[in-house]
Amino acid sequence: MTEELLLKKIERLQQARKAAESILESKSLELWESKQLLESKVQERTLELKQEKEKAEAAQKAEKLFLANMSHEIRTPLNAIVGMIHLLKETTLDVKQTQYVDILKSSAIILQNLISDILDFSKIDAGKIEAISEQVNITTLVEELVKIFEPTARNKGVQLELVMDNNIEPILFIDPKLTHQVLINLLGNALKFTDSGKVTLSLKLISKEDNHQSIRFSVIDTGIGIAADKLQSIFQDFTQAESNTARIYGGTGLGLSISKKIVDILGGQLSVDSEENRGSNFNFTLKLKTTKKKKESTSSTSQIFSHSPDLTVLIVEDNPMNQVYLETLLEQWTINFEIANNGLEALEWVKKRKFDLILMDCQMPVMDGYEATKTIRLDDKETPIVALTASSMREDKEAALSQGFSDFMTKPYTPEQLKEVLLKYDK
Ligand code: MN
Repeated sequence: MTEELLLKKIERLQQARKAAESILESKSLELWESKQLLESKVQERTLELKQEKEKAEAAQKAEKLFLANMSHEIRTPLNAIVGMIHLLKETTLDVKQTQYVDILKSSAIILQNLISDILDFSKIDAGKIEAISEQVNITTLVEELVKIFEPTARNKGVQLELVMDNNIEPILFIDPKLTHQVLINLLGNALKFTDSGKVTLSLKLISKEDNHQSIRFSVIDTGIGIAADKLQSIFQDFTQAESNTARIYGGTGLGLSISKKIVDILGGQLSVDSEENRGSNFNFTLKLKTTKKKKESTSSTSQIFSHSPDLTVLIVEDNPMNQVYLETLLEQWTINFEIANNGLEALEWVKKRKFDLILMDCQMPVMDGYEATKTIRLDDKETPIVALTASSMREDKEAALSQGFSDFMTKPYTPEQLKEVLLKYDK
């Protein structure tokens, strides 16, 4: 090869290298550009996702607020209804009137339970409801429960009975509200699907240890029963065994699924034995702590209970019906009180004089209970302030406590519950 040829070859090679370099350069520019594009796309999508997440959170917040408002709107008049029924029962009534009032009372309690079911439904799935353990007279609890369904049973001509094992300790630690909620659902169902025969609530001692008793709660009926192939699905949300069941018997289809979830929370398991046209047996077993200490029995509403003679209460409540309810009870018990229609009026009262206890509604116009309590707490850390909350949600109660309330009472409250609160804060 001549030198000239060699030089030409080198030159060509150099040209090729330059061309390759320029291609590489342009490619890397392209690459860099698409990388930039990708990054900006990722940023854009991240922003979109963030906005979507914020939107979803806002929707969730709105839903929660709606539930809280609805809960308040429903429970406030229901509180007045339940309260007035209690007061009405204290007056002189003839036999017929007593029957009417009993029907009113059971219907109000069942309605109250239904509202709890609906409001608790999403909360239970989100793990927001926990069982509490309270010292309870189990005999009284189940006797009261059976009473609720007496008018319905009488109307249908169905026998309703309570069978209680004598070996069960009467005072036990249990979550009364949740237990109540489940048993109301089960008894309500049993009566609904039984047109003749008997519905039995039975409590049986299964085993016992030093300070625990395992008790089986059973609700047994002689009703329509459930076909074997439907047994699995009855605990599912919004399901009834037959699609035409709802048409014939009514109901939300929520009762059993929520009952199962509540029994889980209580530490048991809801199961069912059933035979079509023979009847059903819904049962669960709970291991409950027993106590040697007897709970002092609370006296009846009409009886005057002993409290300090100068016990003075400030009622802060915007609903006139609930004001009358509270007024009537406090007058009956000869307890001094003043009434404020909203938070602002409460602040004026607190400036004027000292109270032993403030009963504070949470949702009020002008100034709500939270705002009023926060303001009172600025220079008064002592006076007990009990929130009268329409919300049964535990997180709302915790929020109330963290905002300066000393305690809370859920609407609707019975005269007995009010009495307990008054006794607790009477020094
Ligand atoms: Mn209110």
